[in-house]
This record gives sequence, C-alpha cells and structure tokens, in this order.
Amino acid sequence: MASPELIERYGMAIGGEFVGSDADKWMDILNPATGKPWASVPAAEAVDIDRAVAAARRALRDPAWREISPMARAELLHRLAERIKQDAKRLAELETRANGKIIRETAAQMNVIPNWFHYFAGAADKIFGETIPLEKTSVLNYTLREPLGVVAMIVPWNSPLLLATWKLAPALAAGNTVVLKPADTTPITALELVRLMKEVGFPDGVVNVVTGYGPQAGAALVSHPGVAKVSFTGGTETARAIIRGTAQNLARLTLELGGKSPNIVFDDAPLDAAMNGVIAGIFAASGQTCIAGSRLLAHARVHDELVGHLVERAKRIKLGDPLDWETEMGPAATRAQLDKIKQYVELGIDEGAAVAWGGDSPDDPALGGGFYFEPTIFTNVANTSRIAQEEIFGPVLAAVRFATEEDAIATANSVPYGLAAGVWTRDLQRAHRVARALEAGTVWVNTYRAVSPASPFGGYKASGYGRENWHGTIDEYTQVKSVWIELSTATRDPFVMR
Ligand code: NAD
Repeated sequence: MASPELIERYGMAIGGEFVGSDADKWMDILNPATGKPWASVPAAEAVDIDRAVAAARRALRDPAWREISPMARAELLHRLAERIKQDAKRLAELETRANGKIIRETAAQMNVIPNWFHYFAGAADKIFGETIPLEKTSVLNYTLREPLGVVAMIVPWNSPLLLATWKLAPALAAGNTVVLKPADTTPITALELVRLMKEVGFPDGVVNVVTGYGPQAGAALVSHPGVAKVSFTGGTETARAIIRGTAQNLARLTLELGGKSPNIVFDDAPLDAAMNGVIAGIFAASGQTCIAGSRLLAHARVHDELVGHLVERAKRIKLGDPLDWETEMGPAATRAQLDKIKQYVELGIDEGAAVAWGGDSPDDPALGGGFYFEPTIFTNVANTSRIAQEEIFGPVLAAVRFATEEDAIATANSVPYGLAAGVWTRDLQRAHRVARALEAGTVWVNTYRAVSPASPFGGYKASGYGRENWHGTIDEYTQVKSVWIELSTATRDPFVMR
C-alpha cells in the first residue's frame, strides 16, 4: 500500500464544484504497472447522481448556456481544444498511470483529442432545420433541431478521455448538458477536463462528472428520470443492463460495444504491411481496444509464413513500464482483466489450439507486481471455439486459415460482433467486394486502427447501434420539432382534423 499522504483525493465535479459523495465513501485508483494506489475518488450512489442530474438540468435552463449563440458555443469548444493542447503531456501521464496504456499511445490520444473539439465546434453553427413544402399552402411549416437535454455518458477504462471526447464534443456542440460517469478505475482525466472547461469559460454544471461503480452510480444514472439520452461505450452485457435501465426513463441510446474483429490477409497482400497491421491490431494497447484485430484470417498459402513473421515480431515486443517511451506493450489495466486473459488462454489450450508464442505472464522480475501478459498467438484455432468467437480484450490473437474469398467472408461474419475488419489485398476489385460483404461498421483496407472525427464509427450486430464521430452524429444529440404557422386568417370546421 502507498502511504496515505501519497494518495491524492479528487472530488467529483457537480455544478462546478469538486465534492465528495453524500455517504463520504471513497475508492482507490491503482497504477496497473505497480498494483499500488495513487489517487482516490468518491464512490457515488443514487443520491449523488440525483445531485449531478439536477445540476445538469439547472445548467440546461441557465441563460448562460441556453441563450448563448451557436458561434459562442463553438468558441468555447475551440478554446477548450487549445487549452487541452497545453496540458496534453500531463493528461497523458495521468491516463497512463490509471490504465497502464503506454505513454506513446496516451500522448498520441491527447494530441488528437483537440481535433474532435475543433471539428464539432465547426458543426455547432451548422445545425439546420428545414422548411417543408406542405399541401396546405397557407401554412409555413419548418423544423427546429434542438438539444435533447441532459445526456448521460458512460465510458470504459481503455481510452477514457478519448472516448468521453467522442461523446462530449457533439453533445456540447448541439447545446446539451452532460453527466459523465467514467469507469471506476480511470476517472481522473475526466475530472481534469472539467477543470479546463471551467478555465476556458464553460458555465458551471454544463458538464458534471460522477465517479463510482457501474452497478451503483452507472445504473442510477442511466435510469434517472431527468436523463434524456444515454451514450454508452463498453461491454455488450453492460449494454443489456443499460437497455433495461432506460426502460424506466425511455432515454434514447447510443451503444458502442465490443468486437471480435478479423484481419483478413489474402495471398496477394503486401505481407510486410499486413504483418504490421496485424501486430497493431492485436498488440497495440495490449489488445485492450474495442477494435482489436483479435482474429487473423490468413489464406492457406500465406498463413505459415505470416505466422512465422508475427511470432518473430512478437518476441521482440518490448514489455515494460508504460511511462517509459521505449515500451511497446504495457500491462493489462486491472487484475480482473489479467485474470480474464489468463482464463481465456487456458480455455484456448483446452479447446485444442496451439500456442505459437506467449501464453503467460512474463517472468521478468522487473515487471513483478504489474498486471503484465505476454503477446500471445494461437494457431490451429477452430472457428467455432470460444477464443475465436468471444471478446478477450487482451493481447491474444487467434489465427484461422481460409481457402477462398467466400470462405474468408463467411468466417469473418460468423461471430456475434461487427465493429471493424481489416482486409489486406492488392486486388482492387476484391477489396471493394469484400468491404461490401463484411458485417462491420468500419472496414479498413491495407490499414488498420485508424479513426477520425470526420468519419463515422460504430457497430453492426452485437457491437451496438448509433454512430459516433462524423457530422451525422449531431442528429444523435438533437431532436426535431415541427412548427406550423397558419398564415391565413380563415377559420375552419373545428370538428375536422386540419
Ligand atoms: P464495461 O461494460 O464493464 O464498463 C463500461 C462502463 O459501464 C464503466 O464506466 C462501468 O462502470 C459502467 N457500468 C457497468 N455496469 C453498469 C450498469 N449496470 N449500469 C450502468 N453503467 C454500468 O466495459 P469495460 O470493461 O470498462 O470496457 C471494455 C468493453 O468496452 C469491451 O467490451 C470493449 O470492446 C468495449 N469498448 C467499446 C468501444 C467502442 O467504441 N465500440 C470502445 C472501447 C471499449
């Protein structure tokens, strides 16, 4: 245990104040590289959620937010983007300390987060209604696109501030107010963001951050009567609980869920690039990303050569302290996640798959105490086995052979998920054919793990519904009002529908 004086206490952000929970309960934030606590935050319960939602509702009515122009909202978002740039290094270190993601990646995330705020700042004054040509020519009918109200945002621990940003930027551009609940293990950067928002002039209560556990704080938030929309990123099982919760308040839903994405390598693929893409897909972020390319589907003619190269590269991956800029793979984010990865690896072996590389925690004493796991490659994987079908959320690749294009597509589509897919081929026609046939919200051809504020992101099938990023996302944070103006002064029969 760290001595108590080394643990910094962070309040949650409600109505512009940083406060404890009503019951004064706290939870420790651990560093996954050491297993030791370094910060603590309040463990919110239903009564705290009531306070946060009330603050967001007050902010919604406050002229300081409700009556500012779209240009002024855009200006706040631009200012926030610039302010984040100034603190990017500090924020990256805080993120890494909480979730163990390597500093190279968290620094890259902090450097791109401002792009999301700039992009959606640009959208704030382009949220248009329409005039509707009716059959009743005496009526002027037009639509207003208005904010929904209080948006509840629930995000996971793997990319905490980036995934919160994907929701915050469009929701704020559209004029909503927010109660954000980060994962219980990684709330610090969201709290820091509220500090920066205060500094650049956002009114108090526009964004509130509650810290706490999912089944208490999260469940109370998503079913709260004051919440108009829930935007969730996380696991498919949690999504089912949230859908049940929103049966109470009928809140709208956006769900960004898990994946079991394939990297499909054809025999005409640029093999070096494909190898690099497969490594990026599964070992970047220690495989703890929703878009992990956790399945390698390799044409039989290139399978063995490709796996050979992958093993050679996996052997050289530098595991270590995520705060070290040389490190390529850090620890799993939590002990529970590490245990889950280990269980899946045992299961894979029981299912008859062969471990081509990895399969255990490293025995390097320098990594002792951390939640580390080796990059792991399974071959001989039956497509029906659980390691080929279920999301592991760790650095575990399941390699499956295929013989034909049809075979590859059928195997790729044979899982419940449909978040993303990679296709590696030099054949232009095949690239487009396969992209069309894949059941996935994103298809990357000859690249992998690329995202942009301008391009839609979201799932097919059990990977969720709704889309983030891209201008169309504004629709998910607004509602349409139809306004009818009778221009004639004539009176009509009161007993007939007009
Ligand atoms: P999780 O579903 O366990 O938790 C996500 C969030 O939901 C956390 O903030 C948690 O506290 C909260 N939560 C848990 N139970 C809740 C409940 N009953 N009501 C309300 N909220 C509740 O997921 P995780 O383990 O934190 O993250 C990993 C999962 O997230 C993986 O499945 C991964 O694929 C998915 N993910 C998806 C995307 C995407 O954009 N599609 C991105 C990253 C992660």
